[in-house]
Parts: sequence; structure tokens; C-alpha cells
Amino acid sequence: MVLPPLPRPYQDTAAYWEAAKEHRFIIQQCKDCSEFQFYPRGVCSHCLSSNLDWREASGKGEIYSCSVNYRAPHPGFADNTPFVLAIVALEEGPRMMTNIVECDPESVKIGMAVTVVFDDVTDEVTLPKFKPV
Ligand SMILES: [Zn+2]
Repeated sequence: MVLPPLPRPYQDTAAYWEAAKEHRFIIQQCKDCSEFQFYPRGVCSHCLSSNLDWREASGKGEIYSCSVNYRAPHPGFADNTPFVLAIVALEEGPRMMTNIVECDPESVKIGMAVTVVFDDVTDEVTLPKFKPV
């Protein structure tokens, strides 16, 4: 089995990936302006403060945009075609690129309510993905 490219956690993202491994979905919130952000990074994307905190997110959102991929862009995805690549608008506000799983790919529509699920790809890497509610 060929694995797809996997995330390599670093200083700004390690907490996110550790939480995912525990099947918890966390995102950053700025302690100065209170805005949430995704993806994890070292500064607030709204006010540039580095005073950031991690918050448990609801794991709820809706499809902002989506596409069904029929051809694997990498051998590691070949066993999963067709699959849905989507941008999910999280309940907290930020948008997140992810996969929509546990459904017929053709049934995924913009505006559909989704909730987080966790894909334990390896013993070390768990990917948050989403499924229809
Ligand atoms: Zn801020």
C-alpha cells in the first residue's frame, strides 16, 4: 500500500496534529482580537498578534465549495477514487480544505451540513475529514 503525502508537523502545527491523533478537533483563536483561524500558524491572520490559543471547535460546518476527483493525483490516493475535495466553512468562521467521506461523492452539494470525522491514516497521523450530518 502506497501512502498519500502526509503532513509533517512543526512548531506551529504540532498541537493541531496531536489533538487530531486523539480525535479532537482544535483551531486557533487570537487572544487579542478573538478571531478564529485555520490553518494553524504563528500569527493571527486578522491582527498579526502572536498571542494565540487553541480552542476545541464544534467540528460542524457546511460545504463552501467541492469537487469530485476521479483520477488519483498521487498513487497514494488510487484506492480512494472517486473522492471529494472540499472547502468547509467551519461553524467558528474559518474555511478548511478537506475531504468529504462516508457518502456517495456525487451526493455532496454546496451548503450541505457536515461534521468532523477522524481518519487514522497511520499510527502517527490522523487526518480530520468531514461527513454529511
Ligand atoms: Zn488577532
